[in-house]
Amino acid sequence: MKNKFLTAVILAALTLPAAAQTVVVYSPDSLLNVAITCDVDGKPHYSVDYNGKAMLEQSPLGMQTNNGDYSKSMKLTSNVGKQIDKSYQQSRIKASDITYVANEEVVSFVNANGQKMDVIFRVSNNDVAFCYTLPRDGEQGSVTINEEETGYRFPLHTTTFLTPQSDAMIGWKRTKPSYEEEYKADAPMNSPSQYGHGYTFPALFKVGDDGWVLLSETEVSSRYCGSRLSDYEDGVYTIAFPMAEENNGNGTSAPAFSLPGSTPWRTITVGETLHPIVETTIPWDVVEPLYDTKHDYKMGKGTWSWILWQDESINYDDQVKYINLAAAMGFEYVLIDNWWDLNIGKERMAELIKYAQSQGVDVFLWYSSSGYWNDIVQGPINMMDNSIIRKREMDWLQSQGVKGIKVDFFGGDKQETMRLYEEILSDADDHGLMVIFHGCTLPRGWERMYPNFVGSEAVLASENLIFNQHYCDEEAFNATLHPFIRNAVATMEFGGTFLNKRLNRGNDGGTTRRTSDVFQLATAILFQNPIQNFAIAPNNLTDAPQVCLDFLKEVPTTWDETRLIEGYPGKYVVLARRSGNQWYVVAINATQEDLKLNLDLPMFADSVISCYSDDKAMQPQQKPLKVKANGKVSLVVKPQGGTVLIK
Ligand code: CA
Repeated sequence: MKNKFLTAVILAALTLPAAAQTVVVYSPDSLLNVAITCDVDGKPHYSVDYNGKAMLEQSPLGMQTNNGDYSKSMKLTSNVGKQIDKSYQQSRIKASDITYVANEEVVSFVNANGQKMDVIFRVSNNDVAFCYTLPRDGEQGSVTINEEETGYRFPLHTTTFLTPQSDAMIGWKRTKPSYEEEYKADAPMNSPSQYGHGYTFPALFKVGDDGWVLLSETEVSSRYCGSRLSDYEDGVYTIAFPMAEENNGNGTSAPAFSLPGSTPWRTITVGETLHPIVETTIPWDVVEPLYDTKHDYKMGKGTWSWILWQDESINYDDQVKYINLAAAMGFEYVLIDNWWDLNIGKERMAELIKYAQSQGVDVFLWYSSSGYWNDIVQGPINMMDNSIIRKREMDWLQSQGVKGIKVDFFGGDKQETMRLYEEILSDADDHGLMVIFHGCTLPRGWERMYPNFVGSEAVLASENLIFNQHYCDEEAFNATLHPFIRNAVATMEFGGTFLNKRLNRGNDGGTTRRTSDVFQLATAILFQNPIQNFAIAPNNLTDAPQVCLDFLKEVPTTWDETRLIEGYPGKYVVLARRSGNQWYVVAINATQEDLKLNLDLPMFADSVISCYSDDKAMQPQQKPLKVKANGKVSLVVKPQGGTVLIK
C-alpha cells in the first residue's frame, strides 16, 4: 500500500451482503484511510483509521432534503479517483508556502428513487475532507437540506476538548451565540453540553493513547450555514444546523443551494501526536479565493483604547493618546472602537484620522453589524446590515483613507448571516478595506476565500480578562488550548498582550493579571492573527519593562512556518514559528509546577540565541543563550510564566 498513486481499493467483505461494497481511500503515505460503505439498510457510512488504529468507527453519511432522502435505501454505485497535488501561497495564516497532496475519490450513491448523491473525499497524510454534491434533478434546480446525517462515532476510550454552543438571544444585549464559551478539557464523551445545544467547531478529541482528531468545517460561504456538533447521542456526534432562535428568529435553520451544488467540506485532522493538529492547513487546502483584490493589504500591529480604557475612552483626546502610543511603538494601526459616531462625530473623526495619518498611523473603525438581531445601542448601528447604507458608508471610509473596519455582534450561524459576512467582505474589498469580525462565528476557510479578511474573535478573548477575575485566573489554561483547537483552524483576533498588572485605566484597580510579562509576550506569537491589536496602554511606555516594549516593537505578525514542539492542551505548549529566516520559539505553562523542558530545537543548533524568561520575582529578563550543535535546549518555565527564544 506504499504507493502514493494508489487511491482506492474496493473490498467485497464476506460479512456483508453480496451487493455491499466498500471503497477505501488511502492517504499518499498510506497511513490514513477512509472506508466508505452502505449497511444492510442502505445507510451510507464511513470510518477512519490511522496506522491500523480506529480513529472513527462506522459513522453515518447522507442527508435529507426537500427533494429526496439521501440517508437510507442508498446504493453505492461507483467511485472515481484522482490525485491532487497543488501548491499555493497564503498570507495571513500559520504558513506561507503550502503544498497539498491528496487522493480524491468521488463516491456515488443512488437512493430508492434513483436520485444521485456524490460524496467527494480528499485524503491527505493527516487530513480527511469530504463534502456532498447533488446534481441537477430534472425540473428541480434547487434544494433545501433539512438535515445532514453526517456523524462522528469515536472509539469508546475517547475523551473530549469541547466548547458548548450557547443558547441564542442571551448574554450582552442578546448577542449570543458568538463562540465565547469556556472549554472543558479531557471530558468524557457522554457528559452533556452546558446548554444542551452541542458544541461549536473546531472540536478536539483524544482517542485514548492512539491519537488525536480535530473536527471542523471549511468553505462555508453565503451558500450554506455554519454547522456545529450535536450532543453525544447513541454513541455519535452529528452535524447540527443553527438554532431557529438565532438571528432573532429570522432566516431559516436549514441551508439551501441551487443545483448542481455542494455542501461545505467536513474536515477531520488525524494524528498519533498533536503535531498534525497544530500544523494542519486543511481549512485552506480545499478552498480557493472567491475574488481577486486590486489592493495591497498591509498586516501589522495596532493599539486600541477600548480594551483597557473601555467606552469612556472613545473621545478625541484619548484617541490621540492611543495614536501617539501606536506611533511611539512603530505600529501601523489604531483601532477606534464603539461610540465614535456619537462621542467624536464624523467631522471631528475626519480631523482625527488626518492626525493619525500625520503620525504614520492608519485607522480601523468599529461598526455594529446590527440590524434587528440584538439589542445593541453602541454606534454606529444599522449601517453594515444594509447594502445601500453600507456602500455609502464605505465610500466615506475610503475617502478618509480608513484602512479597515471591525464589525461586531452578528446574529449567529444561519445561512442568512453567512451571506451578511460575505457581503460585508466583498463590499469592503471594493473600498480597499480590511475586515475584522467580533461577536461572531468561526471563520471557515475565509483567510483564503476573502483576500481582505484579517481575523475573527470567536473565542473568549482579552476583554474577558477585564470583565471578570475568573478569566484572569484561567488565562494560562485557556491560552494553552487555543493552538490545538481554535487557532489551529483559523486566525484568532484575541486582542491581548497586556503589560498592565491591574487591568484598568490607572493600572491600580480592576482585575489582577496572574500571568507574567513574558507569558504575555509569548502570546503575541502563540496567538496567530495577521494584525495584532495589542492591549498595551500609554502608561506602559513608562511603567512597563523596556525589554517588553522593545520586544513588541520587533515581533512579526505574519508567519512562514509553524511547528508544534510539544505540549498538552490545558497544561502547556511549546510552539515554533518562522518569519523569514528568523525562528521564534515560545513556551507557556498553565500548571502549578515548574515546567522542565528538554527540547530539540534544530533551528537553533550551534548558535547564540536571545532568551526571554521570568526571573525569580517573575520579572522579565533577556539573556543570550548558547545552543550546542545538537540543538538541545533545557528550560524551566514557571507556573503562569513563559519563555521566548529568538534567533
Ligand atoms: Ca466579544
